[in-house]
Amino acid sequence: MAKSNAHRGVMTQAVHAGERPDPTTGASAPAINMSSTFVVEDLAGFSANDLGEESGYLYGRWANPTVTMLEEKIAALEGTEACCCFGSGMAAATAIFLSELSSGDHAIVSDVSYAGVAELVRDTLPRFGIEVDLVNMTDLSALEAALKPNTRLVHVETPVNPLTRITDLAAVAKLAHDAGARVSCDSTFASPIATRPADYGVDYVMHSITKYIGGHGDAIGGCVATTKALAKQLNVEATVHYGGVLSPFNAWLIARGAATLPIRMRAHEETALTVAHWLEGHPKVGKVLYPGLTSHPQHELATRQMNNFSGMMSFQVGSEADGERIAERMTTDLEVIHYAVSLGHHRSLIFWMPTAGLMDSSFKLTGANLAAYRSMAGDGIFRLSVGLEDPEDLIADLDRVLG
Ligand SMILES: *Cc1c(COP(=O)(O)O)cnc(C)c1O
Repeated sequence: MAKSNAHRGVMTQAVHAGERPDPTTGASAPAINMSSTFVVEDLAGFSANDLGEESGYLYGRWANPTVTMLEEKIAALEGTEACCCFGSGMAAATAIFLSELSSGDHAIVSDVSYAGVAELVRDTLPRFGIEVDLVNMTDLSALEAALKPNTRLVHVETPVNPLTRITDLAAVAKLAHDAGARVSCDSTFASPIATRPADYGVDYVMHSITKYIGGHGDAIGGCVATTKALAKQLNVEATVHYGGVLSPFNAWLIARGAATLPIRMRAHEETALTVAHWLEGHPKVGKVLYPGLTSHPQHELATRQMNNFSGMMSFQVGSEADGERIAERMTTDLEVIHYAVSLGHHRSLIFWMPTAGLMDSSFKLTGANLAAYRSMAGDGIFRLSVGLEDPEDLIADLDRVLG
């Protein structure tokens, strides 16, 4: 079914890819298959390494039909051969790093990234003898200079959390591939509707499907869209051995969300543009960082690489003390927007991210990297995930707390 949908439009793929009417009952909606084990007809080996191309289902940590449905849907949306789902976005990131890198290898990671990824690569990977360099991926000469004979992986994120800085995926993939390294991209902020990183040569396309793909804030999950061969490697090594599997119930919820991803992204973008323009005109607001604004420092690249500017933006409000005061007001005075972490849901979410605090806990940038961060974020930014409410209600909420 996924194959027969391949020539169809993205909205059709989102609805139908991976799904088929139930052959025994005719049910139009997919079932949730919670079975942890499967009755086998052929004598099969007991190791994941014995799994062949045509192996049926055996045990739920290896594969599950409801999870397969979601994997086929995401692969169709990303335009990749295959996809491997995980219990969280962080499990997906860990799967890429640990299956791709060995002791003695070198990885280059974006100096700004999702906080969990930043902490994992800086604090955990070196304990396993993996060397990590952090590079501002908008500086291609810095990336080129950082590449070494033992560089196996370049990991980027675009738009990057929380700056919305954009990485030129085609340029990064060319540099990395010429040096014999693979490229992974955390595409959570973009969603497959905005950018399909594999089209630019990215080898591993990672998402926290907790965010836009699920879209409703009610299920945690992760995925890596990639080639058949790399998905098989991720499945055997990461899913089966590290064990971070996605629950079939979450896969079902996330697939139901994914069916409306194309139309949700259109609404997120439209409302975000309205809110971003309003914020730009507010006297208390300094910089507004939204790829869809002509004032975004990389608007031209964003226009070239993104088919949708997504619903993620950040904005400055002056000093750290100003930001903290407004954040405190938000915790009590917001009526529609939730003051909460996470993003990509139908509910709008906002969170204060002071630069000093983020540097202490997650990024630890210094020198030119810190200067580049501060040039966008100043003393701190509010990260706003624009949901699917009416833009007038979001603006009224923001107006009240900005004072
Ligand atoms: C949330 C997020 C993650 C981690 O995903 P979880 O599902 O929370 O584990 C990774 N990258 C980005 C950009 C995210 O927003």
